[in-house]
Amino acid sequence: MRVCILGGGTAGWMTASALSKKLKNVIKSIVLVESEAIGTVGVGEATLPHIRLFNEALGIDESAFMKQTEATFKLGIEFCDWGRLGDKYIHPFGDFGQSINDVDFYQHLLKLNQHGDYGVLDDYSFGITAAKNAKFQLPKSGKTPLQQAFGYAYQFDAGLYAKYLRHFSESHGVSRIEGKVVDTQINSKTGDVTSITLDDGQQIDADLFVDCSGFRGVLIEQVLKSGYQDWSNWLPCNRAVAVPCERQQKLSPYTRATARQAGWQWRIPLQHRTGNGHVYWNEFISDDEAVAVLLNNLDGPALSDPKQLFFKTGRRNHFWKNNVVAIGLSAGFLEPLESTSIHLIQEGITNLLELFPHETVSSLDVSEYNVRMSLQFERVRDFLLLHYVATKRDDSEMWRYFRNMTLPESLQQKIEMWLHRGYIQRYEFGAFLPPSWVAVMMGQNLLPKNYDPRVDNSNFEQVKQGSQAMREDIAGAVQYAKTHADFLSSFGAASNTEFRRAK
Ligand SMILES: Cc1cc2nc3c(=O)[nH]c(=O)nc-3n(C[C@H](O)[C@H](O)[C@H](O)COP(=O)(O)OP(=O)(O)OC[C@H]3O[C@@H](n4cnc5c(N)ncnc54)[C@H](O)[C@@H]3O)c2cc1C
Repeated sequence: MRVCILGGGTAGWMTASALSKKLKNVIKSIVLVESEAIGTVGVGEATLPHIRLFNEALGIDESAFMKQTEATFKLGIEFCDWGRLGDKYIHPFGDFGQSINDVDFYQHLLKLNQHGDYGVLDDYSFGITAAKNAKFQLPKSGKTPLQQAFGYAYQFDAGLYAKYLRHFSESHGVSRIEGKVVDTQINSKTGDVTSITLDDGQQIDADLFVDCSGFRGVLIEQVLKSGYQDWSNWLPCNRAVAVPCERQQKLSPYTRATARQAGWQWRIPLQHRTGNGHVYWNEFISDDEAVAVLLNNLDGPALSDPKQLFFKTGRRNHFWKNNVVAIGLSAGFLEPLESTSIHLIQEGITNLLELFPHETVSSLDVSEYNVRMSLQFERVRDFLLLHYVATKRDDSEMWRYFRNMTLPESLQQKIEMWLHRGYIQRYEFGAFLPPSWVAVMMGQNLLPKNYDPRVDNSNFEQVKQGSQAMREDIAGAVQYAKTHADFLSSFGAASNTEFRRAK
């Protein structure tokens, strides 16, 4: 089978790396076409912990990769002003406390706090406590199970990551061709794409095309007319403005998302700079005002002019159609509130590897792929929407819009079940495990009416003592952990920039 990947952004080079490494004896040739004149979207810096599995599968050395991509560790996302103005919480990667008698610890905490002050969820998470103190250590160096019960991701320069993966892919046999696709040839019987033609007249034949051409969706949409499910009634923010600024002295091991009047602002600390952006709904704020909000809320001087981006939330009707698989922005877009785009690229690649065609594309594989990816996108959509609707804010038109919204049934059910008994359903295809949902629900003051009745089966005095031991275990370990900056240096991940000034 001959594969052609169209696009050399994060999606294109991640796909090229994975296919060349994992299917080297299955695929005859892999060609990647990209156009420097068109360029890449040029944003996307925060990730989810799953990316570590992706890098590990490629055999990438963690500290070398971090050094080359100016990466920092990410223990979660701090959400400011979401539930109410002045509120703050961190959504970490990992569980809270340890279950007692097979019942999740947060259920016990709900009861504990009816009888006194036993702290907040944060006190039972190593990840959150370390993040708040700008500390970091690897989970495996924790001395107790609780100190190991957290995950981490990276904040990196996505352009440098794509460059890193380009080098990886080319050394694994991928051929890169510079050029712009100007025409495509279709098999009139099957509807498959048989070849693409570039602006210099070159024609590239392939059996399978992976469309990583970004928002344009050159093959999946412009040629195969997949169609787009527009979700902007639920997630109406449709523009962003992004700007890097000088890095703050203290290197935070987390991303920040601050709710604004007509959207929200991100802050992502890297080794050499801080990435910032304001995602907004242009119905309620002008572009100039959005830029002003962004520039007035930076940690340091801006390092370039703000860059404007336009998008429509949603997904393709078909992620895989005929012999074209769309991965990356060509597959759909959900705002970067929970850093899910690169993760959805990874899911697209993992599912493609698992369902990779033998000699010809089978409709069975195509429909399985589309079912899986639809679930992935829908569940991320619901999770993002939860942040906007689990709120008491009504101080602007945008927040009032969310108060009167009819939710997708899947999210409505999830919220009802949570309020009823603090229950979160587990599922196979979906980025966020129950602790993530718990973090956002509790962080935004959406508390269940009842705790799980099995909690009453445990001896209350023992639960009280156990919870105190957990808090002490975490607080003690964080006290002795290295600062994030020191850890990066000792890990060999610090680039040779001015990074060492960080404390
Ligand atoms: C405001 C914003 C913030 C984001 N923040 C995050 C984040 O924090 N975390 C995260 O995970 N994701 C984030 N993302 C998403 C992330 O940027 C993308 O998922 C990621 O960069 C992948 O993009 P891509 O490779 O699909 O597309 P692109 O980067 O747009 O690349 C498209 C490629 O296709 C090529 N191409 C297009 N048309 C043609 C043609 N006709 N001929 C030849 N080549 C062509 C281009 O040259 C380019 O190489 C964010 C996105 C936006 C808009």
